[in-house]
Amino acid sequence: MAKPDLKTILDKQRAAFTAARPESLDIRKDRVKRAIALLVDHKNELCDAMSEDFGNRSREQSKLTDIMGTVNFGKYCLKQLDGWAKPDKRHVQFPLGLLGAKAEVRYEPKGVIGILSPWNFPVNLSFGPLMQVLAAGNRSMIKPSEFTEATSELSRELCAKYFDEAEVAFVTGGPEVAQEFSGLPFDHLVFTGSTATGQKVMEAAAKNLVPVTLELGGKSPVILGKSADFTRAGERIAMGKMMNAGQICLAPDYLIVPEEQKEGAVAAVELGARTMYPTLLNNDDYASIVTDKHFDRLQGLVEDAREKGAEVLEINPAGEDFSSTNSRKMPLTILRNVTDDMQAMQEEIFGPVLPVKTYKSVDQAVDYVNENDRSLGLYYFGSDSDERERVLSRTISGGVTVNDVIFHVSMDDLPFGGVGPSGIGSYHGPEGFREFSHARSVYTQSKIDVAKLAGFKPPYGEKTKKALASQIKKV
Ligand code: NAD
Repeated sequence: MAKPDLKTILDKQRAAFTAARPESLDIRKDRVKRAIALLVDHKNELCDAMSEDFGNRSREQSKLTDIMGTVNFGKYCLKQLDGWAKPDKRHVQFPLGLLGAKAEVRYEPKGVIGILSPWNFPVNLSFGPLMQVLAAGNRSMIKPSEFTEATSELSRELCAKYFDEAEVAFVTGGPEVAQEFSGLPFDHLVFTGSTATGQKVMEAAAKNLVPVTLELGGKSPVILGKSADFTRAGERIAMGKMMNAGQICLAPDYLIVPEEQKEGAVAAVELGARTMYPTLLNNDDYASIVTDKHFDRLQGLVEDAREKGAEVLEINPAGEDFSSTNSRKMPLTILRNVTDDMQAMQEEIFGPVLPVKTYKSVDQAVDYVNENDRSLGLYYFGSDSDERERVLSRTISGGVTVNDVIFHVSMDDLPFGGVGPSGIGSYHGPEGFREFSHARSVYTQSKIDVAKLAGFKPPYGEKTKKALASQIKKV
């Protein structure tokens, strides 16, 4: 396919945006409805394409994570839109308010918003932000990942059927198209992907002072409290680490467990894994690793840990021979006795490898979390509310799920985003609408010349002195 002319599409979208203003909320709703219809009408083809891209990916899982989650988020946007779009009346200082001055904030569309998305949830992470970008009244250009070629091409074709190019346009291509895309003078840019690429994207956006939302990754810890129900926690952790074969930005990256309960914790995760995935190789529920490169990277993490003294426990319930296939499937691999010099404790794992650390007191776990980069998610399991609050109030992360993993992202009304190296800004919830809107201050002056009455207009004199003296005081 010929390289898309990105700047021409951007110019076309911006011209259409400017010419059409002001657009009614009904037009925005119609666009969100069309995005929902696209997903509902073509769910099966999209899930087939995702499976083709991954080598294998469960259609049921894809429907849950990429279709259902995104459609429901679109419906949530439709329901909230009228409320979100209402201007906010703001306070006017005394005595201006009494004299007829008015202040309000209007949430106006920014214009054309670029969306750069990764391969791990290729539909959700393209159409999810799109729902809220459209709800906020913007146009959008989307560049999905080159690693999910079938899904990206299908999304491009379908988009052209449901939207005019001046409203929403998918453009496809490799890193060079991505690089050009991130250098376009958008009105806002949403990037979901790795921290390393996020830095490049922010640098490119800075050249045009384009504001960014960066949805990045990192090492999201799980702190297992002594009071946790280990069986339940183990199953939930195994689910979070094995869904999409751990290729989830919010996947539990590593586990910190009480020293004296480490055997029980590992046994609980193992039981959870065996119960949900009794076989792996021919089990359509279990996803493959997306590319050979990622597969080799994960094998490398395990080998590096083994060489540096970790105990490696492969959860292979049916005793299948993984070496004889090229399915890129990898069993859940638990690493015990890990040390900080192991790569698995230094980089985001993004696969079914689970290092387990131990703590003597929960403060030790908190200190460890605080010594490392601020993560996208943080998980605490336990029924001890004092301990839970101690963990939450002494750590910082993008979001938190208590007594499960990942789930906070599926709450439509909660903002989703990272902090520091795990991201900048957020979407979902009312915060997402505001992220994609410009909060425009509108102040209407009173008819009465208050500045003059108060002595704030030249020539300055005694009245001015008095007025200033009455205002500039300590509290
Ligand atoms: P990636 O950073 O390699 O790629 C993401 C996108 O960036 C792709 O569309 C790619 O074409 C584009 N890109 C590549 N090079 C670029 C460049 N030089 N300039 C501009 N764009 C460029 O990420 P990935 O491997 O596709 O995804 C995995 C990462 O994404 C993990 O780190 C994961 O944690 C993170 N992630 C975060 C979230 C979140 O919501 N916070 C969700 C999913 C994935």
